[in-house]
Amino acid sequence: MAKTIAIFNQKGGVGKTTTNVNLSASIAEVGNKVLVIDIDPQGNTTSGFGLQKDHFERNIYDVIINEESLENVVVETEFENIYLVPASGKLAGAEIELAQGESRELRLKKALEDFDQDFDYIFIDCPPSLGLLTINALSAADSVLIPIQCEYYALEGTSQLMNTLELVQENLNPALEIQGVVLSMFDGRTNLGIQVVEEVKKYFRGKVYTSIIPRNIRLAEAPSYGMPVIYYDGKSKGAEAYRNLAEEFLDLEEDVI
Ligand code: ADP
Ligand code: MG
Repeated sequence: MAKTIAIFNQKGGVGKTTTNVNLSASIAEVGNKVLVIDIDPQGNTTSGFGLQKDHFERNIYDVIINEESLENVVVETEFENIYLVPASGKLAGAEIELAQGESRELRLKKALEDFDQDFDYIFIDCPPSLGLLTINALSAADSVLIPIQCEYYALEGTSQLMNTLELVQENLNPALEIQGVVLSMFDGRTNLGIQVVEEVKKYFRGKVYTSIIPRNIRLAEAPSYGMPVIYYDGKSKGAEAYRNLAEEFLDLEEDVI
């Protein structure tokens, strides 16, 4: 049975999509079958794998709004072991359309339950908000992976993030766990970066991965070529960092089993 992980932080620009694309690619590279669900109207995960949002006849919008089955929307990417449920710009309106709908928070959960599949991991890229799309992702997931950007206000918004998780646990998904916290865009040349790492470790005790993602130009460039960084420049610092993170992630998973 697949483990479903939502990449969650309501702040934009903290490295959710970059982590989604590159961690899932690195996990797939070592032989795991991975499905990535792009539930962000921006569709950056979809384009990060070289595919276009709104190019496909059916997409995640149809799953959320029209109860389309996931089986009918999954597409293959050109990368080994990675499959995608593409995004749609129409998702931006889905929040409002959903507002009236029945079991509006649980559409994705239901779709995943009805989906007969053999994936090892399913990653969901959340949009940068606490709207119904994010709530659908959190309700459907077994765990959340939280990217935190190493910047001055790194922990700003964290209490809101934790409150949201608690609310979802209390009302919609009691089994939801924190998978781990990823520090992203680290700049080792500054004291600030080092301070932030310490602060985040103190706050999330034991949940922070030791593999830290550095600021790396190749990570920023790879999406414009539609490739995960391990395929764009496999020897870059960014590729090394996400491969290390994948190894750590998988090691911890083995410990649980
Ligand atoms: P989010 O999905 O949380 O909004 P993104 O993953 O899209 O954040 O990252 C925001 C921007 O920062 C993007 O332009 C991305 O390419 C860039 N970026 C993310 N992580 C790194 C990194 N480690 N090094 C350099 N640029 C990065
Ligand atoms: Mg994003």
